[in-house]
Order: sequence, then C-alpha cells, then structure tokens
Amino acid sequence: MKDKIMMKTPLVEIDGDEMTRILWEKVKEKLIHPYIDLKVEYYDLGLAKREETNDAITVESAHAIKKYGVGVKCATITPNAQRVEEYSLKKMWPSPNGTIRAILDGTVFRKPILVENIKPSVVSWKKPIVIGRHAYGDVYKNQEYHITTKGKAELVFTQEDGKEIRHTIAVFKEPGVIQGIHNLESSIESFAKACFLYALSEKLDMWFSTKDTISKIYDHRFKDIFASIYKKDFEAKFQEAGISYFYTLIDDAVARVMKSNGGFLWACKNYDGDVMSDMIASAFGSLAMMTSVLVSPEGHFEYEAAHGTVQQHYYKHLKGEKTSTNSMALLFAWTGALRKRGELDNIPDLIHYADKMERASILTIESGKMTADLARLAEPKASVVLNSEEFIDAIAETYSKKLS
Ligand code: NAP
Ligand code: MG
Repeated sequence: MKDKIMMKTPLVEIDGDEMTRILWEKVKEKLIHPYIDLKVEYYDLGLAKREETNDAITVESAHAIKKYGVGVKCATITPNAQRVEEYSLKKMWPSPNGTIRAILDGTVFRKPILVENIKPSVVSWKKPIVIGRHAYGDVYKNQEYHITTKGKAELVFTQEDGKEIRHTIAVFKEPGVIQGIHNLESSIESFAKACFLYALSEKLDMWFSTKDTISKIYDHRFKDIFASIYKKDFEAKFQEAGISYFYTLIDDAVARVMKSNGGFLWACKNYDGDVMSDMIASAFGSLAMMTSVLVSPEGHFEYEAAHGTVQQHYYKHLKGEKTSTNSMALLFAWTGALRKRGELDNIPDLIHYADKMERASILTIESGKMTADLARLAEPKASVVLNSEEFIDAIAETYSKKLS
C-alpha cells in the first residue's frame, strides 16, 4: 500500500451521539485511516460529555474551529424533556449547533449529493441546488399577540434620547393577531459575505431573492446590503472566477428554480430558507444524501450531515438488530472538511483523496449497492440492500479496486 497522506494543520473533530456516533467510528476506521495520517483535535460532544463539562466542551469546540479554520461534526442530540430523563441530565442543554452557530456567526449551506439512479422529482434538475439560509432574526425572534378586544396596534421605536417614532399597524374592531420582527444590519452583512464566499469557494452562480416589492423597507434593506457588499468586495472576484450574482423577487426565483438545471447557490432569508431547504431536500430524494456546511464571515468552515442522530435505528442497534443506515452525508462531511484542509494547506493529495472517495461512494450506489432508504427510491431497482457496515465496506472495496 502507498504511504499515507500527511496533514499539516489539525482538523477539529467533533464527535456526537447515537447511530451517527457508531457510523462515525466505522467511516474513520475503514475509509479514512487506511489512507490518511489523520491529524485532529478531538472534541467529544456526546451528550454524556456535555453533561460532565456543563456544556463547556461545546463552546471549546467552536473556539477550536475559529483557531484552526475547519471542523467536522457528527450529529448530536438536542435535549428535550424526554432526553433529560433518558440521560438523567442536570439541565436541558442548548442545541450544540445553535451554540456553535452563535459563536461562529455563520450561515448554513445545504447541498444534496446526486446519483444517477435516484431521480429528482423535478426532471430538469441535473446539478445540485444549494440553499444558503440566513440564521438570525425575522419570524424566529418575534413578539406576537392574539388580540381579543377592540383596540389599536402601533409600531413604536423609542430612541436612546427618548424620542419616539410611532405608526398605527391596525385599528382592531374585532379579534385578530399581530407580530413584531426585526433584523440587524451586521447580521445581514455577515449573511451576505458568507454567501459570496461560499459561491466563490464552490465556483457557483449565486441568486438572492426577497419580497422587496411588498416589504419596501425591511426586505429592501437586505437587497441593498447584498448589492453594496457585492459591488465593493466581490464583483471583481466573481468575474475572475467566471460566476455571476443576480437578485430577483422570490416569486420569480421560485419559477426559475423549477425550470432550471440546478448548479447554483440560492441565498434565502431565514423563513424562505427553512421552507425551501426542506422542499429541495425531499425533491432530491433522501435526508441521508443532504450535506451541510456552516461558513462564517471570516471564512471558517464546519462540515456535517444535515440529518440527526437517527435515533430509531440506534435503538434497533442496541437490541442487537442490524440497521441499514446510510453514511453518505457523514462521509461527505469528512471529505468536505479534508478537501478544505487540503486547499488551505496546499496538500493536493488530500484534495484528490476527497474527490476519489466521494466518487467511490457514488459509484457504489450507482452500481446498485445501497442502504434501505435509497433502495426505496432507486431506478433501476437496487441489486442488493446492504446493512450499515456492509455499505461502508462496499465503498472501501470500490475505492481500493477502482480508484486507489
Ligand atoms: P433524524 O436523525 O434525522 O432521523 C429521522 C428519520 O430520517 C430516521 O428515523 C430515518 O427514517 C431517516 N434518516 C435520517 N438519516 C438517515 C440515514 N443516515 N440513513 C437512513 N435513514 C435516515 O431525525 P430525528 O430522529 O428527528 O432526530 C434524532 C436526534 O437527532 C434528535 O435528538 C435531534 O435533536 C437530533 N438532531 C441533530 C441534528 C444535528 O446534530 N445536526 C439535526 C437534526 C436532529 P426511518 O426511521 O424511516 O428509516
Ligand atoms: Mg424546516
């Protein structure tokens, strides 16, 4: 066997929970360690460790990504009341992804993995559509009331010096609902920069859409901030990379997306991104084929799978039953992070490894060998439905026979 590929800077490895924690080990053992002299700084975000450290480990892992620039994260449990009981937790610890996102001030990009034998529901889609979702404010940080008596609703802004701006929203003569939302220019700027950086890094055209014809101040501010950052910092770089940026009304964007061949980044406001990423994911096939990367405005990257810990499969695994859990998005989190390390540290072998390993996994599925979630959708039908570990073994075999 050839010498293993050496790394220069450690990758921040963030371990997680349940079925994905099991697959994480297997992916490393069979698809990474044989080829790469892996250099990592390891953070265990398994729920037991978060409990033991009062969640300090989560904060430390985010700071490590800031220090080294690239992280790879396994799926983690976000505790709810049932988990507090199941794991005898002192507290309902916050979502690790929320904590990490707040520290990195990032934007999340979701991209489907395409294979020839899983056809998207939209027949014209040939290349992936990536959604970039703003992760701060709007309806996710709102104030809202159910109004049950007659009265007047006003929008009031009290300046520091006590001066007021006041406008009537509605005069209520019957029951109704009201809502107040906000956003911050600094957050919109971070969102815009992260999107432009991602488009450059992936060499993708970029679209941005809002409803600025109706929301002439709020949404219009988003449009203007994107336009001025593009003009100032990115227009020349986009031209050099041969990619384009264009803004359009969200209705027009939706119509164009349905007729497109894919192959672009669609930047969406918080709510639009929430809804559109679920639409794109299901139209492309399976949650297990959706990758996710958090990009900060300073250019720090955190790669992960879009799915959770696959809890139901883990309970089967604990009972000693075989599971057929798909490790594609987890593998792509690793290859994405290793490729980015290779680019930043100028290690071409690491980049080639990532390209070949992704190719091997796709070829494996295209040869008819896949897990049950894909077998339900495949056309032509799967030649064999593999269990979790057999699927990883099949990828290792494709890699060593066809590509290494
Ligand atoms: P999930 O883990 O994404 O799984 C939901 C269902 O999707 C599974 O039951 C399975 O369907 C299918 N699925 C997801 N990934 C799959 C894979 N790799 N291979 C095959 N099938 C897959 O969501 P959840 O069960 O709602 O959440 C479990 C835990 O994950 C929760 O504690 C939640 O807090 C956490 N979570 C973490 C993250 C993160 O860390 N980024 C994200 C979301 C959720 P079938 O059962 O039909 O086979
Ligand atoms: Mg959603």
